[in-house]
Amino acid sequence: MPAGRFVVEGLALLPGTEIELPPEIAHQARDVLRLATGTMLHLLDGVGGEYPAQLVLVERKRVIARIGARQAGHAESAMRVVLCQGMLKAAKYETVLQKCTELGVAAFVPLLCERSVAAEEASESKRRRWAKIVAEAIEQCGGTCLPELGTPRPLTHALTEVPAGGIALIPWEETREMPLRATLAGAIADRGGIASISEVRIFIGPEGGFSAREIELARLAGALPVTLGPRILRAETAAIVSATLALDTFGALG
Ligand code: SAM
Repeated sequence: MPAGRFVVEGLALLPGTEIELPPEIAHQARDVLRLATGTMLHLLDGVGGEYPAQLVLVERKRVIARIGARQAGHAESAMRVVLCQGMLKAAKYETVLQKCTELGVAAFVPLLCERSVAAEEASESKRRRWAKIVAEAIEQCGGTCLPELGTPRPLTHALTEVPAGGIALIPWEETREMPLRATLAGAIADRGGIASISEVRIFIGPEGGFSAREIELARLAGALPVTLGPRILRAETAAIVSATLALDTFGALG
């Protein structure tokens, strides 16, 4: 078991070479974890590769590690699940990012909805914070692929981005007859099985929910309204539950 797993973006992780760890990782290894020379870390390239890395030098000014052979990630979902989430207040959206990254969501798309109450811009500092949250979630959970972090866009725009072979689900608290899992399983069967599915895109409303007009637009775009049961879930709860149900349909959780 490595003493720690760290996402290292923008550095070439070449087996057999030595790299100087970026300052924030060097600080973690040296000053927080107090790791000594010889300790093994795992470095992640964020796109599926995991590299054993042995500390060969731990100094005040720098930490050097020798890169081992690339190991393919073993904890990625077989199905690409994209979560399109009505913009939420900061802490709620950060909860969605952390928990759904742990679960295996491959991409997050913030939605600008009629009833959004949160600020609708994603400042640079907010995006940096989001990137840090998903990197830490990947480091913690054993994943190796960083989820894509989209920029906020109107619901109508996100609906047009469903790729060929994709299935769009829109959980809506006012529908009763179509449970998410059974609806997704039925849509997969109708298309000839999982091999024909390129992506599952889930649309969750903001704190104010989707308007009837937005649900109609989603229906017209081919999204399937589904229920998460008779209770009205908070948006962040609905996001986590929906991602869990969809990923579990593809065996990602068991
Ligand atoms: N006011 C609450 C809040 O602040 O989060 C709830 C807002 S609304 C219900 C959040 C979103 O979660 C909805 O747009 C819908 O996508 C989803 N949702 C919540 N409960 C649901 C249910 N029982 N069935 C389907 N979708 C649900």
